[in-house]
Amino acid sequence: AKKNPNSIFRFYDDNINKEVTDFVDTYHLVKEAIENKWIVFYFQPIYDTNSLKIVSLEALVRIKHPTMGLIYPDKFINFLERSSFLADFERILFEKALSYLNRISDETGGNLNISINISVNSFRNGSIIDLCEKVSEEMRRFISIEITERVFAEKVDKIIGVLNKLNEMGFVLEIDDFGTGYSSLGYIDKMPVDFLKIDMSFVSRMAECKKTYAIVKSIIELAKGVGMKTIAEGVETKEQYDMLKSLGTDFVQGYYFSKPLPFEDILLKLKSK
Ligand code: C2E
Ligand code: CA
Ligand code: CA
Ligand code: CA
Repeated sequence: AKKNPNSIFRFYDDNINKEVTDFVDTYHLVKEAIENKWIVFYFQPIYDTNSLKIVSLEALVRIKHPTMGLIYPDKFINFLERSSFLADFERILFEKALSYLNRISDETGGNLNISINISVNSFRNGSIIDLCEKVSEEMRRFISIEITERVFAEKVDKIIGVLNKLNEMGFVLEIDDFGTGYSSLGYIDKMPVDFLKIDMSFVSRMAECKKTYAIVKSIIELAKGVGMKTIAEGVETKEQYDMLKSLGTDFVQGYYFSKPLPFEDILLKLKSK
């Protein structure tokens, strides 16, 4: 970066200066995106492993910027999840999910789920419950809520309480990134969760590394033992798919089957079946 002698940051090194400008840029990006309705969702199908029927669509956020093009969540989601924009964002997410669910049943005659990613903060402060209460009872079973396993790093009792509430309300619950840390093994039998999503880092290594293969096998057995189903994410090759199928993974998701796509493209895919 070019040094500005008048900058109020001149006493800091360039790294800190860059962090500050990045923060300011991201703040404006997210603010403008929400105000101007640049928030869009791409959808990645989740398939039944054996029939390869689509059972759910995972909503993945992007910012559709008029000059910069499509901006991926790695550029803004960490900021957004900690910002005051989170409530507005998650309200938009629920609204879009419900309107797309209606379009799916209207235009294809069939029903599937939409899986949405909810931030750790909304679980920790309980605000997710308020959002969920606004969803009509008959729609709740079509919304699958994904929460990363990292949520169990603290306030475990509170998190389990929130999960219980959402389960009683009729939502489908999924633990995302399972196996990546803050092991939830100690209380997995207390979680009213329907699905474990086997983290992509395991799936991508399982064909080359015997130990990783053993971990995936154990996660699938563990899930079966506690009455949960498994979704393997990040499946990129036929070899990985074949292995996961023979290990008994219930559902699969990944570039090998489909990349995340705009809703209209997904609808065409569903209609052509
Ligand atoms: P995630 O929930 O673990 O989502 C999976 C990510 O892996 C997505 O990246 C998806 O596009 C990508 N992916 C799917 N299949 C493959 C594959 O076969 N190979 C590879 N290499 N990647 C694959 P994306 O869309 O960039 O999202 C990144 C993360 O951003 C998500 O990870 C999630 O943590 C977060 N995120 C996305 N949308 C939302 C949202 O609406 N709300 C919140 N709170 N977080 C979101
Ligand atoms: Ca996810
Ligand atoms: Ca349930
Ligand atoms: Ca994941």
